[in-house]
Amino acid sequence: MKRTCYAGQVNEQHVGQEITLKGWVDRRRDLGGLIFIDLRDREGLMQITFNPEDLSDEIMAQAEKLRAEFVIEVTGKIAVKDVANEKIATGKWELKASELTVLAASQTPPFEIKDGVEVSDELRLRYRYLDLRRPEMLANMRMRHAITRNVRSFLDEAGFIDTETPMLAKSTPEGARDYLVPSRVNEGHFYALPQSPQITKQLLMGSGFDRYYQIVKCFRDEDLRGDRQPEFTQIDLETSFLDEEEIQEIVEGLLQNVMKNVKGIDISLPLTRMAYDDAMNFYGSDKPDTRFEMRLSDMTELAHKTDFKVFTEAPVVKAIVAKNLASNYSRKEIDKLTELAKQNGAHGLAWVKLENGELSGSVAKFLTEISDELRLELKLEDNDLVLFVADTLGNANSALGALRLHIAKAHDLIDQSLFNFLWIVDWPLFEWSEEEGRYMSAHHPFTLPTEETVGYLLADGRSEDSDLQKVRAHAYDIVLNGYELGGGSLRINTRELQEQMLTALGFSQEEAEEQFGFLLEAFDFGFPPHGGLAIGLDRFAMLLAGKDNIREVIAFPKNKRAIDPLTEAPSPVTQKQLDELHINTIDTIK
Ligand code: ASP
Repeated sequence: MKRTCYAGQVNEQHVGQEITLKGWVDRRRDLGGLIFIDLRDREGLMQITFNPEDLSDEIMAQAEKLRAEFVIEVTGKIAVKDVANEKIATGKWELKASELTVLAASQTPPFEIKDGVEVSDELRLRYRYLDLRRPEMLANMRMRHAITRNVRSFLDEAGFIDTETPMLAKSTPEGARDYLVPSRVNEGHFYALPQSPQITKQLLMGSGFDRYYQIVKCFRDEDLRGDRQPEFTQIDLETSFLDEEEIQEIVEGLLQNVMKNVKGIDISLPLTRMAYDDAMNFYGSDKPDTRFEMRLSDMTELAHKTDFKVFTEAPVVKAIVAKNLASNYSRKEIDKLTELAKQNGAHGLAWVKLENGELSGSVAKFLTEISDELRLELKLEDNDLVLFVADTLGNANSALGALRLHIAKAHDLIDQSLFNFLWIVDWPLFEWSEEEGRYMSAHHPFTLPTEETVGYLLADGRSEDSDLQKVRAHAYDIVLNGYELGGGSLRINTRELQEQMLTALGFSQEEAEEQFGFLLEAFDFGFPPHGGLAIGLDRFAMLLAGKDNIREVIAFPKNKRAIDPLTEAPSPVTQKQLDELHINTIDTIK
């Protein structure tokens, strides 16, 4: 090949040799007739020197015209530099150019191609191909590649069969809205882009594949956040005949392998397991960040001993202690915490400080009688700030859980070098949705209830609503540093139980048959017990890259309004296209 190597790969061995490099002009400097170029390609930088004493006027004139982001080919000898540039890996050498070809010119780019540029996200996405030229972005994408490469080889070794499942699919309820695709040949009918291959991978277990995996795009039409995109990627797997622990063991092996090979970090197995109820009670979250403590304490009993109505009338009173931070919190600062508590469901926030051995603050006067017990129970020391939420258990947990995270972030209490993996187990099968006013699946409708609690679903699937919250699931989530990395479960494999489950979720028999008849029927033909899990690849890559938005590890993501500013998708289409699809649009597009 004409190119000898990548610019970033030039080394000792090349000294004295004539080599050819191809890449982008990162920087050009003119110094008393000499022209220096930093040539950049995906592996790094190399200094090219154009010396008028060695080169024709023509080549020098060409070199003078070079600007940032021109694409060039240069040939010349590698020489040792008098003074090495410690900042770059190839800094000991220079390429003394003898030939130069300009392969492509460039306009001045809208932002500099370097790490840490201060550019709006919108502009970065508008010129994503330039953004991806920046070394840190390329490094993120290569980290993602390293993850998928390891996942594939690990699962291959473990006997998993990589199987593609349809993108034009029937909608599977995973709790989000579907993206729909109109069918041209079936007027008025729509495919749904899969929210996940949940049902199809289960069907593969019915086919006897035994172990399936796929690194697969999933689509959910929901409001976007830092860790959500309309299309995202899962490491999706399903197995037959294994129990919960056996599936978790495979996943742990996978995680251990990736952490070792991608980050060089040893994680010790088995991973910690925490019951869902403990996660909620101690951390106020089903995806607790365990890199720091600041646990939630249940103070109900003590609080009910006071005369303070807010405390005595609330079902529960819980507290967190911000250790040694009281002096950082003025009333105004505490007002901000109160606001955050309210945004997370609490009706208010009460607080006390321990300063110079005295309790002070909004509710201190109500606590005099329990002050000693309070100090003992919460192990209070001088300069501690105690935050109380008196509310329902759910509201107290979610508000204090949010405050806990907020305070830890604000005061740098989190050791960023840690990777705390953790299983959350013993899930409820259902969760109450305020929005819908009914119980919904905590995971999805195919999750297997435990033998001990399945009885709360009546034989015909109906149930006293209050009983539904007692049904527990064979479900497990894998959490990393406060993010839900993935989740899975054992699945229902009989028609009878699946029908009961669908009834409990409010499906009529006709609706169940219409939506899931094919699955129910498959259960009639010797369907093995099975279970699996899916890991969010984007989140995994984001966390390993130390970023806080999955956009940083996706080549072409959408912005917050689900638009791709580069291609301007989604966009209007022609009337002809719409006619073929039998679609009338209401004219709202201006
Ligand atoms: N399909 C599920 C999800 O996307 C994962 C699983 O249960 O395997 O969350």
